[in-house]
Amino acid sequence: MSPEHDEQALAAAYVLGALEPEEHAAFKAHVAGCQHCAAEVGSLQRVADALARSVPERTPRPEVRARILASIQAAPRQQVVSPFRPRSRAQALAPWLSVAATVVATKMGAYAMRMQQRVEMLEARVEDAERRALAAERRDSEATRVALRVQNTLAVLAAPDLARIDLEGQPPAGAASGRALWSRERGMVFAASNLPALPAGRVYQVWVVTATTPPVSAGLLSPDASGGGVAHFETPADIAAPVAIAVTVEPAGGVPAPTGEKVLVGAPAAAL
Ligand SMILES: [Zn+2]
Repeated sequence: MSPEHDEQALAAAYVLGALEPEEHAAFKAHVAGCQHCAAEVGSLQRVADALARSVPERTPRPEVRARILASIQAAPRQQVVSPFRPRSRAQALAPWLSVAATVVATKMGAYAMRMQQRVEMLEARVEDAERRALAAERRDSEATRVALRVQNTLAVLAAPDLARIDLEGQPPAGAASGRALWSRERGMVFAASNLPALPAGRVYQVWVVTATTPPVSAGLLSPDASGGGVAHFETPADIAAPVAIAVTVEPAGGVPAPTGEKVLVGAPAAAL
């Protein structure tokens, strides 16, 4: 893990295109000479891309989609929203998600507080959109499913107890990387990229490793054709704090305890 410093809190807003022009130019110049911030920008971009890919190709009927999107776009600062020029709901949300991820992962300066307030407002709007989607489109299970998934993801990212755990690819999946965003109350959002294609009959399984229990299965991860994937997992409310998160290759359907090779492993930067 690279050491974090004040400028790094701007990385997400930079990826989002939400900085003022002077801020943007100043941060761009800073990134050119700062490997920590350059790495943070790259990492956020990967997570944003993976999140964008995580929403199914098949979108809800246009009017449902328009309502959800309109609700999300009605964010407090037009200036922040306009650079999205969203081509899809996922692309519209991805930068917000990465902002939230960074906000909670860095020290809470005044800037970060402001960004978290925006995420919380966005969360409330998604909740509202979901309620309306449910009421109006009870039979449109896809719209409901997507809305719930977005809401669950935002709930984790806005959690007051959120922690970030970065995972590194293990041989022979050295190019793979992952990031777990963990909240005891609200579950875990897990994003991975560059995972190798799986042999037939095998799945990726995500594990929460604690100091006091055998590894707890968080769930299964289905990467897309490019090896990226994002999932929201519920975890038991009484689970011990994770000392590591790992991903293994397991038989289809998953297993109660890990048996296969580890492809991703990461530990929290500080004890949770
Ligand atoms: Zn820097």
